[in-house]
Amino acid sequence: MQSVDVLVKGRGAVGSALALSLAAQGLTVGMAESAPAVRADDIRTYALNAASVQLLTELKVWDSLPPDAACPVYDMVICGDASDDQPSGRLSFSAWQQGLRELAVIVDAAALDQQLATALRFSPHVRNVSADTPAGLTALCEGRESAARAALGVGFDAKPYGHSAVASRLVADRPHQGVARQWFAAGGEVLALLPFDRPSPGQSYGLVWSCHQDKANALLALPEADFERALNEATGGAAGLLSLGGTRAGWPLALARADAVSGPGWVLLGDAAHVVHPLAGQGLNLGLGDVAALSRVIAARETWRPLGDERLLRRYARERAVPTLAMGELTDALQRVFANASPAVRGLRNRGLDALDQLTPLKRWLTQRAMGL
Ligand SMILES: Cc1cc2nc3c(=O)[nH]c(=O)nc-3n(C[C@H](O)[C@H](O)[C@H](O)COP(=O)(O)OP(=O)(O)OC[C@H]3O[C@@H](n4cnc5c(N)ncnc54)[C@H](O)[C@@H]3O)c2cc1C
Repeated sequence: MQSVDVLVKGRGAVGSALALSLAAQGLTVGMAESAPAVRADDIRTYALNAASVQLLTELKVWDSLPPDAACPVYDMVICGDASDDQPSGRLSFSAWQQGLRELAVIVDAAALDQQLATALRFSPHVRNVSADTPAGLTALCEGRESAARAALGVGFDAKPYGHSAVASRLVADRPHQGVARQWFAAGGEVLALLPFDRPSPGQSYGLVWSCHQDKANALLALPEADFERALNEATGGAAGLLSLGGTRAGWPLALARADAVSGPGWVLLGDAAHVVHPLAGQGLNLGLGDVAALSRVIAARETWRPLGDERLLRRYARERAVPTLAMGELTDALQRVFANASPAVRGLRNRGLDALDQLTPLKRWLTQRAMGL
């Protein structure tokens, strides 16, 4: 069997971006995938940060996306949970105030998968291979249920939240103007509206409604009109009258982290290495950060050092340890603070949002971290 320099297992966004990035260095890359590569039915939208957009641009994927598959976010409004005796806190971010072109870009998950698959087809150094192809380095990008990670004996400490994210596409009766909105409500519920152009240009949103598993199941089972009623009640008309613009689907949520992300001849990237709550829209951004880091480490290696060298791969592991741990802790802490139903904590977090809203330098710092700058 003909060997390759790098075997990439998993053809999600992370594995595909890694294959393109390593192939651009002239390495031969074999891709092994157990399921259909492009999930045309993925109704999610991803919020991507500046670092991810830059990587995808360098890989010649970003500029080939259909124009209505990516939509900039200029403003973001975050609201706490109001109660009869307390107003909700409010925190807002503006690209204009921070001298940025945009805070993030919302991209169609299926269109991104499609474009990555097209770029792979045209990459002369990438070929489809079987999972047992000999390789100098094996990169495991199989997502959170990675079988190859388990076969290596690497622990994956997963803490299920008992919550699911309900995703769909929405159409509003007025333009979104590039404003993303997020509500944190009792019990750790988080509802996000991400401005988008599909199905209706300038008036659509990607919905991510994270809530207790039972409520998520109920929301998925509701007739459309009842779902829309619940949605409009939860958003209080802030984004106009919202109606469904597509099907609904749910994803169970967890916080997880692999015990090790590298070893002799292997590395873990993306959700195979770490899973975070989608409330900050950072899971794929972290995975693409892994891709950029591993690519840099490989490009800078000593000429005599083999690709699977354990010490080389430890450089990658060290570089990714802090950002992935920090994002896991941050999203988990936010989820827990907002899951706390005590009136005292609720008042404190609402005042905290209001106070943070006045702290321009801290807001700028937070924005830059979220953008991967
Ligand atoms: C509702 C929701 C909203 C989200 N929103 C955002 C967002 O706004 N921004 C953001 O950055 N992130 C977001 N995320 C996170 C993001 O979806 C993930 O972090 C990202 O998709 C992980 O990509 P991946 O390639 O690592 O894994 P996956 O997308 O899971 O891909 C893994 C691939 O490996 C394949 N595979 C599995 N087993 C094998 C095997 N044995 N052999 C070969 N192949 C195999 C699978 O078929 C799949 O193609 C969101 C997540 C959810 C659930």
